[in-house]
Amino acid sequence: MSIIATAKKTASARAGDEVEAQARRLAMQFSASRAGDILSHAILKEFPGKIALVSSFGAESAALLHLVAAIDPATPVVFLDTQKHFAQTLSYRKKLARELGLTNIRDIHPDTEEVAASDPDGDLWKRDADACCTLRKVTPLTGALDGFDAWITGRKQFHGGGRVNLPAFEASGAHIKVNPLIRWGAGDVEEYVAAHALPPHPLVEQGYPSIGCWPCTHPAAPGDDIRAGRWRGAAKTECGIHIAAV
Ligand code: SF4
Repeated sequence: MSIIATAKKTASARAGDEVEAQARRLAMQFSASRAGDILSHAILKEFPGKIALVSSFGAESAALLHLVAAIDPATPVVFLDTQKHFAQTLSYRKKLARELGLTNIRDIHPDTEEVAASDPDGDLWKRDADACCTLRKVTPLTGALDGFDAWITGRKQFHGGGRVNLPAFEASGAHIKVNPLIRWGAGDVEEYVAAHALPPHPLVEQGYPSIGCWPCTHPAAPGDDIRAGRWRGAAKTECGIHIAAV
């Protein structure tokens, strides 16, 4: 290995170590904190101007968007427009932006040439859902987060699966993911939405408790896990943005 390559490798490893250490420190410091306190610290003190919220504008998104808007409505909000969203999600994104006064929503699309090359008929989701998520979510998100040190997610421990032990802060590649709602249950989301009269996603009343792209989202039966309608019948449970080190 050349001296330059070795130096680059060492620098990148040190950056990774620093991110890990910062995430561990913050996770301990905020292990019992409320969502609003975690968000205030992250947005105003720890990562000012270097943090974005990534939102799907799905069934549970309004509460987190409202919390962030109350701290700083100019916080960048990344919306991955996969070009496979329900029309109701696109109209809900506009409605929430208007009602919450969010001024910096960034609609991020997959690269046109990559879509033409890899998914010319728009049916990659049928043949290889992981490749489709990489094309339409993971790669665009990676570009959208360039220049940011941290991003905020709405994941909650009650979602189950790999989310049951989520910390409030976690290292993910060069970024720190901030998970302020980890201890919220479904009832907490409902209470917050009611207390602040936030509009529901129009598909919730049609039986969709978790909403992503239309080809991979189905209604859930009463008593089902909240994410049971996502990639139904497949082993896949996450879209990849929470698996890749983004
Ligand atoms: S959720 Fe489905 S349609 Fe959306 S990007 Fe992933 S595989 Fe493609």
